[in-house]
Amino acid sequence: MPDTMLAVVIASYGGSLAATSRPIPRPGPGEVLVRVRASGLCSTDLHLLSGRQPLGDLPRIVGHELAGDVIELGSGVTQWRTGDRVTAAIDVTCGCCRHCLAGDTQLCRAMKRIGFERDGGHADYVAVPAANLVAVPAGISYEAAAILPDAVACMYHSLIHQGGVGIGQRVLILGVGGLGIHGVQIVKSAGAEALATSRQPQRLELAERYGAIGVNTATESLKDAVERFTDGEGVDVVADNIGTRASILQGLSMLRPGGKLLVIAYIDETFEVPSIPLFKTELQIIGCRGSTKQDLIDVVRLVRAGQLTPVLGASYALNDIQAAAARLESGDLVGRIWLTRD
Ligand SMILES: [Zn+2]
Ligand SMILES: [Zn+2]
Repeated sequence: MPDTMLAVVIASYGGSLAATSRPIPRPGPGEVLVRVRASGLCSTDLHLLSGRQPLGDLPRIVGHELAGDVIELGSGVTQWRTGDRVTAAIDVTCGCCRHCLAGDTQLCRAMKRIGFERDGGHADYVAVPAANLVAVPAGISYEAAAILPDAVACMYHSLIHQGGVGIGQRVLILGVGGLGIHGVQIVKSAGAEALATSRQPQRLELAERYGAIGVNTATESLKDAVERFTDGEGVDVVADNIGTRASILQGLSMLRPGGKLLVIAYIDETFEVPSIPLFKTELQIIGCRGSTKQDLIDVVRLVRAGQLTPVLGASYALNDIQAAAARLESGDLVGRIWLTRD
C-alpha cells in the first residue's frame, strides 16, 4: 500500500475545493480503515468550505457520504472482516448520554461527525469507528450505497420518525432535488401518497415516475393542487426541502388541522409564523436533524427490497472535485453527484 492518497481538503475557509496528497490514515482502536470506492457530494460540503458551518481544527478532509471496502482492522475490532463492503453512519456518538441511550443519537452532545469534526470520505481511504459501519449487500452498487447515509437516510428520518408518515397519509414534498426525490419514494413505501413541487419539469417527471403527483409551482397553483389532492382538507405532513421564509409559510398554510411541518432545509436563518393558526389548529413545526445508524440500516433494507432506488445524477473523478462542485451549484441535475475512484 502507498503512504499517501488523494483527498479533498479544506485548509482554510473560502476559495474552492481541491484534491491534494495526504498521508493514508491508520485505524485506531475500535476503528477500521476503509478503501473508499465512491463518495457522495453534498451541498453541505460547499457550506463547509464557506465557513458557514465551522469545522473546528483545519485542515479537514470532507465527505460524509461514502461506501467502500474494509481493508484493515484496528485493535479490538471483531465484528468486521477485511473485504466487507460497507457504508458508514455519519454521526460518531458517545453511546452513553441520555439521547444516545434513548436512541436519539442525532442529538448526542458529544458527537463528532465523519467529514465534519473528523476526517471524511472524499479520499482514497478513511478511518472510521467500526460501530458506524453498515454492511452493503452485493446487489447494491458502491455509488448507490454512498449516497444513502445523507440524501436518503435523512429524508427517511425526517418523514418516518419526525413526521410519523404512515399508511393512507397525504404528504406534500416541497422541492424534489437530491433529498426530495428520495422523500417521494419513502412516502410511497410507507403506504402514503405524495404531492411534490418543483419549477423544473425534468425533476417533476422523475417524481411522477416514482408515484408522486407533480406540481410545477412556476405555472400551477399549489393551493389548488393541495385542495384537489386532499378534497379540501389539507395535507397531513409537509416536508420542506427549500428552507426559505416563503416555503415555511406556504408549507404551514397547506396543512390540515393537527398537521406537521418538517423543517429539513435552512436557507433563511429566521422565519416568522402567524400564531393564531398554530394555536387554533394545533399545527406542529418540527426540526429534523440528520439520521441515526438504524435509519441507515432501514434504508439499506428498503433498497435491497426494491422499494427505494437511490437516484444518481452524474459522476466525477475525485481529482475533478472543482468541476463536480460547479455542477452541483449549477442546480441542473436531477440526481446526486458521486465521486469515483481509480
Ligand atoms: Zn450532506
Ligand atoms: Zn451521546
